[in-house]
Amino acid sequence: MIILTIIFSTVVTYLVNKNKKVDNKLMKMNFNIVSLLYPTICKIAKFIGISKDEIRKIYIKLNNDYIYSNKYDFKSEDLIILIPHCIQNQVCKLKVTSDIENCNKCGKCKVKDLLEIKRKYNTEVFVATGGTLARKIIIDNKPKAVIAVACERDLTSGVRDVDKIPVLGVFNSRPNGPCIDTNINIKEVEEAINFFTDK
Ligand code: SF4
Repeated sequence: MIILTIIFSTVVTYLVNKNKKVDNKLMKMNFNIVSLLYPTICKIAKFIGISKDEIRKIYIKLNNDYIYSNKYDFKSEDLIILIPHCIQNQVCKLKVTSDIENCNKCGKCKVKDLLEIKRKYNTEVFVATGGTLARKIIIDNKPKAVIAVACERDLTSGVRDVDKIPVLGVFNSRPNGPCIDTNINIKEVEEAINFFTDK
């Protein structure tokens, strides 16, 4: 049984990773297996020389592809977008962590674009400075789905933390190294909103 489960999970993970069409129920089953075995998978990966970030990327892909294989029809105001603080330009002193409306839209970082998304779709955008705050934001706002922007490590722990509602992960890029002036593809965030609102 254990061997069959491992073979099943390896095949489905491989197919999803290669962007092949996989039945939605099989994806869900596989995602649950991978979630359960995640700590063991990380240990085996380390042993055979696969980096943690590679495993995290695959994990988020399994999560995202499963979510994208479902259908939702939420209102955009029932979604929330969580972003990390490192998206804000490091020299900007405006307090966007408490409210991104404090951004004056100078355009030096993507907070400006996120503010425009917030206003266009009426979707709240919060800066989550850590997992505890992210959890609190979700509990306080009770969204129907979350679009989370973060690095591989934070996205993985976020997705593993939240199991009652769908969380689509969007990776930020780090052209200046970790946690400094990170960037995001705004189109990916907008696509995620359009997907959850069935547009
Ligand atoms: S876009 Fe907003 S948050 Fe970014 S640097 Fe300019 S004022 Fe600061």
